[in-house]
Amino acid sequence: MNTERAKITVRGAVQGVGFRPFVYRLALEFALRGWVLNSSQGVFIEVEGPGEAVRQFLAALEKSRPPRAIIQSLEYSFLDPAGYEGFEIRTSEEGGKKCALIMPDVATCADCIRELLDPGDRRYRYPFINCTNCGPRFSILEALPYDRPNTTMKRFAMCPECEREYEDPLDRRFHAEPIACPRCGPRIELWDAAGTALGHPLHKSAHVLREGKILALKGLGGFQLLVDARNQEAVARLRERKRRERKPLGVLYPTLEAVRAVCEVSEQEERLLVSPERPIVLLRRRPGGDVAPAVAPENPNLGVMLPCTPLHHLLMVELGFPLVATSGNLSDEPICTEEHEALERLAGIADFFLVHDRPIARHVDDSVTRVMSGREMVLRRARGYAPLPLRGKETSPCVLAVGAHLKNSVALSVGRDVFISQHIGDLETSQAYAAFRKVAADFQRLYEAKPEVIACDLHPDYLSTKYAAQLSAPLHPVQHHWAHVLSCMAENELEPPVLGVSWDGTGYGADGTIWGGEFLVAREDGFERAAHFRQFRLAGGGAAIRQPRRAALGLLFEMWGEKAFRRRDLAPVRSFSDTELALLEQMLEKKVNSPVTSSAGRLFDAVASLLDLDHEVSFEGEAAMKLEFAVREGTEGSYPFKMGEVIDWQPMVEEMLGESPGVAAAKFHNTLAEIVAAAARFCGEEKVVLTGGCFQNRYLTERCILRLRDSGFRPYWHQRVPPNDGGIALGQVLSAARYDRVSQQSPLCAWQSPENSLR
Ligand code: ZN
Ligand code: ZN
Ligand code: FE
Repeated sequence: MNTERAKITVRGAVQGVGFRPFVYRLALEFALRGWVLNSSQGVFIEVEGPGEAVRQFLAALEKSRPPRAIIQSLEYSFLDPAGYEGFEIRTSEEGGKKCALIMPDVATCADCIRELLDPGDRRYRYPFINCTNCGPRFSILEALPYDRPNTTMKRFAMCPECEREYEDPLDRRFHAEPIACPRCGPRIELWDAAGTALGHPLHKSAHVLREGKILALKGLGGFQLLVDARNQEAVARLRERKRRERKPLGVLYPTLEAVRAVCEVSEQEERLLVSPERPIVLLRRRPGGDVAPAVAPENPNLGVMLPCTPLHHLLMVELGFPLVATSGNLSDEPICTEEHEALERLAGIADFFLVHDRPIARHVDDSVTRVMSGREMVLRRARGYAPLPLRGKETSPCVLAVGAHLKNSVALSVGRDVFISQHIGDLETSQAYAAFRKVAADFQRLYEAKPEVIACDLHPDYLSTKYAAQLSAPLHPVQHHWAHVLSCMAENELEPPVLGVSWDGTGYGADGTIWGGEFLVAREDGFERAAHFRQFRLAGGGAAIRQPRRAALGLLFEMWGEKAFRRRDLAPVRSFSDTELALLEQMLEKKVNSPVTSSAGRLFDAVASLLDLDHEVSFEGEAAMKLEFAVREGTEGSYPFKMGEVIDWQPMVEEMLGESPGVAAAKFHNTLAEIVAAAARFCGEEKVVLTGGCFQNRYLTERCILRLRDSGFRPYWHQRVPPNDGGIALGQVLSAARYDRVSQQSPLCAWQSPENSLR
């Protein structure tokens, strides 16, 4: 029987409502071992036993909780068994540095929804209904402690009735800081593109959405763009205006039943959909379905969410059909949070603006999750999760980590806790950089932290690195893929030695080349690059990221030299004109603007192009996604490769040419899993972490997990922290906390000229 341990943190109204005895009884019922502990930071639980029983326990924890217990946040990680005997209620944790916990925004609770739809209630159809158990928190907080005058609600004076509820210890709204009602609270307005209020905001918003118009809605942590998801023309218009060509869009559904009609929903996925965190969940689509093809072109998955605020509920009740709900921004900029700013920045995108006068203190995007190998995996950590901490075993010095360049987030360690910021985005625009600086400053102010060390990426050209270098505390640069490994080790609570399989698109290597297909062994005193993929050249550097066919050409050139250019039978070669080919040949032969890379992400790109699946992409990772979707399920077998310090893919690529794309895509993934298992044997490490953006790929991750287990190794992957660069900041904190002394003497600090670097 496979024994698993889940470490669970429950926050909300769970103290003094019989929650601990309930947990105790539940654990006994499922014959699980472990403990429960009450602390000022929430209720901590660890349960251990057969995997299936642990999963049932987790489901029951929410479903059959005591009547007065309200769960506002439930996070858990699966960890290695600890060997508990029996189940105990541990004594409450006292003392230690008390750090005020900032709660994330919580989706509207069942009680509030009932009142919202009850014509007899004084808050009937009031879009800002909330109570102590639900509503905005992090997105309205301006300072600590969390009291009304420290929130953006301070501008609304409570009416006598609200005040009475607020003061009454027996009321559900006792000290509900965002308390409001139609008499005293925020109001909504519908504006046209010129900012003129139109009257009957809800009714009219529903009307324009039905007509296929694009509505910018001021949500909890920022603006969203909404449009009828069934209307192909309207969705296409949104894509064109937002300059988002093919990247899949998220869909807001009115009910769980409606989601079930179009997607497969497992028990775990259902839990996520209706959870207080209420993220977007990536689900497998059923054939047919009601969304327009433009929502997620050629994609077997759909990102789905349910309403999380009263305003969303009201809109969905009115409409009853799914809406595309995507962040209110132009391509990669951060989301708008203020209505006048939105009017300006979203001009030409949105036709109408559904706004309100409760200010948003900070932007918080929708979170994105998926279930992988029977566990939840957070792909974008924002609303509902941020800024909850990951709790470490030991107190660490105060470290501010500024993250990487793409999918940036920052992290701050205070005592035993590492607080990870909400997703900020790609630091490509001045707006994004401004948002990043704001969050970094915001975190230090909220937690009254004076960082002793600033951790950053090794890449000297990242804006986050440059920002870090301006701060006064000592700098601790961390190699990108090592940070990935450390973040995955941290959330799985692993101690070295560990083999880290760290695969992504691009990262600045310790030797100044571009890394991305790395096998790093974590030791007590740092890491060793035990193996990596054979390098190849990317003609045109950054341009190669947008053109998988350039990666393919680089791969072929590495294999066959100039002969590669005569292979007109191959799709990527064919896709270039003669002039282009001549130019690229020059670049590759003379090694001009053609950096070498060991990137696994670029290997995915190259293979996608070789299989004629994609030659030019509209977003990073698109080709890899197509390759994943092309996999013909049930295909066994793999290609040959050469294991060693340099892992050679040439035998694989040569055998792949000429096979059908579906079979080749499957065997390519299978081969990568074989490579991971072979690398584990090669390095002789039992524990293997799978990290980096490539491990957002479900087929790849699940296949690697299976192969590692079959071969007697112990695989670990991400759960609460994204495998992509959203997790880098956590890894940087750990490096600074654990390896600071070591790396000051290591070559990691010898920054090299970024001549051959990519951002
Ligand atoms: Zn409520
Ligand atoms: Zn009121
Ligand atoms: Fe990365």
